[in-house]
Amino acid sequence: MSELHEKLEVVLSKLESVRPQANGTFRSRCPVHGGTSTDDMGIRAGAKWINLHCFAGCDYDEIRRVLGIEWSDLVLDDTPAGERKPRRRDWRAIELESYACAVRLQHEPEVLNRLRFGHVIGESAGMEIRNGRGWSAKALERLEVGWDGSRLTLPVRTSDGKLHDVLRYDPFATGRKILAGKGKSRLPWPSPERLDPAEVLFLVEGEGTAISMTTVGLTAIGLPGSVSKPTISTQRPGSWQGAGWHRKWAERFARFLRIVLFPDCDDQGRALMRAASYDFDKAGIENHVIDIGSKMNDGRDIGDHLLKSAWDTTSRKAARNVIRELVAERAEVLVA
Ligand SMILES: [Zn+2]
Repeated sequence: MSELHEKLEVVLSKLESVRPQANGTFRSRCPVHGGTSTDDMGIRAGAKWINLHCFAGCDYDEIRRVLGIEWSDLVLDDTPAGERKPRRRDWRAIELESYACAVRLQHEPEVLNRLRFGHVIGESAGMEIRNGRGWSAKALERLEVGWDGSRLTLPVRTSDGKLHDVLRYDPFATGRKILAGKGKSRLPWPSPERLDPAEVLFLVEGEGTAISMTTVGLTAIGLPGSVSKPTISTQRPGSWQGAGWHRKWAERFARFLRIVLFPDCDDQGRALMRAASYDFDKAGIENHVIDIGSKMNDGRDIGDHLLKSAWDTTSRKAARNVIRELVAERAEVLVA
């Protein structure tokens, strides 16, 4: 993949309602003037740079400023490798910092309790409704999730184990829940290479759902959550072009004997998992898509249905059993 293509993916991941066009360009909602139209922004990658154009006339510099991207993020760097400036950030230092954050989280009982029990957000029939995620300290530790003082830190690794980025994640944020490093593309998390290939692997949407699945004792990977996904025909999974799944990722999953895919309950979520399943099929990887709520269309995911109330040993075991039964019944896959 060319460097410019990677830069294009980063730009697309920052835009809302991205849709590929027949001529290889993209359309999206304009991040500056917003509005109801999702057609105002044209995005086109030329040979040397990426062009962003608002048909309503928003200023190019303003578009860049709102998206938080520099000129250099839009232009192909064709300086020979030897003449490039040394890398600004020391990745080893960033990795050590993320380990320090992981240790810190384990010593922050208030943060751990908030992740588990959440805040009271309402009341129903005399019972408190809370927005906790049920996450266990043990699962967070296993996944190397840390705490930087304001957000969770999630180290993201490439197939060779190298640190690619550290996501900053606030599961209770009303705005952007996940912040990726500047200019960094999103990858499946946790890294497939770090998991036991003998276990049934669950592929879910979103890093938070992967933490929930790990909490109830299952082996899970989350595809990038909170990214804009293209509206695309759900009947043509091979044509997926969004940021949530890439064909080339399939090879990182080839080590697993069996993969169960749990789509979010909306058209986009289903299209995303069908695209992944299509590429697993082509790579000869046994996989099963299980739609847990084919009658629902409210975007709820497995986490909303089963996992948020799994906050102690008994309820976690119950959630795990429901999933095991579901998978045995729908896909004839036995989860240990
Ligand atoms: Zn505009």
